[in-house]
Amino acid sequence: MDPRTPPDDPQSWAARARELALALGFDRAGIAPAEPTAHSAFLREWVARGYAGTMDWIGRRLEERVDPRRVLASARSVVVTGFVYAPHDRPPLPPGAAEVSRYAGGEDYHDVLVGRLRALGDALEALAGRSLEQRAYVDTGPVLERALAARAGVGWIGKNSCVIDRELGSWLFLGVLLSELPMEPDAPVADHCGTCRACLDACPTDAFPEPYVLDATRCISYTTIELRGDIPGALREAHGSRVFGCDVCQEVCPWNGRRARERPADPLGLRERIAARPEWRAPTLAWLLSLSEDDWRAATRRTALRRAKHRGLLRNALVAAGNSGDPALLPHVRRHAEGNDALLADHARWALTRLEAGPPAGGPG
Ligand code: SF4
Repeated sequence: MDPRTPPDDPQSWAARARELALALGFDRAGIAPAEPTAHSAFLREWVARGYAGTMDWIGRRLEERVDPRRVLASARSVVVTGFVYAPHDRPPLPPGAAEVSRYAGGEDYHDVLVGRLRALGDALEALAGRSLEQRAYVDTGPVLERALAARAGVGWIGKNSCVIDRELGSWLFLGVLLSELPMEPDAPVADHCGTCRACLDACPTDAFPEPYVLDATRCISYTTIELRGDIPGALREAHGSRVFGCDVCQEVCPWNGRRARERPADPLGLRERIAARPEWRAPTLAWLLSLSEDDWRAATRRTALRRAKHRGLLRNALVAAGNSGDPALLPHVRRHAEGNDALLADHARWALTRLEAGPPAGGPG
């Protein structure tokens, strides 16, 4: 068939959309119908239980989130893409370094991948020979990416609440393109968590009240990135050296370990762009604690790290300093304890108390 001939049935449209998505650099693509998923009731209850914490924007646009047609009335299909962003193995952190989640230290994935999704929309328009109503989102729109990914057969939602693909694992960025085109949906895949509970047991802050349910208010990804106020005292020690996000529940997942296939080829160099810049692979706490707002702005330019704000990153670094057992950080911490910012001063005093007490049993860290 001539690749320029517009498909004339939903199955062919779905096949062409998947092909185009892979050609544009995505590692997975599946099709979901543009309608509420089985996850909608789960989300309503999750918000009602208070697990969204201060992310009240989730609850505010709940009705839109559960039904893609509330976002785009003409939507009939959702192309869901998966893109592998990180290798499973990474070198251990050197002493004195802080940990940054694997997705965050390079070019902002929203910008890189939403451009790819728009290119997918353009390619579908070219194929249709007319303009189409479409919307592209990568983690930024009022749509439930994970639920749609599960419905589209891109993976299953694991007990750690991440979407997992049997071959690629769960280090995946998800993207969605809502389209007015009719496409045959893919079948969901089975849940392969089985009796495993490694993520639930390894979570440093015990953030899973039950399998598949994440209490975001205890999750280090929430406390270090979304939360603007105090990090709860009871959770600070469990933060360890993490200053932006947490990867533990994915690191321990067997689907990311020996079972995960080699990372797919990346002819367009997208993974290179998203990969962490050298200064963010193992930033020292001393450097983080001395970052002025201008330094921070320069160092985080065009990265997803911006989301935590300058003050949030300093707050997180103070907690990590308090957990480090490293007396060399005392001058940095004292400076913040004596500063005018009450939030930072409080976290600095917490860190000082711990540092002045000497290294914890078993040594620093
Ligand atoms: Fe599922 Fe085990 Fe992976 Fe958790 S660690 S998501 S239980 S397979």
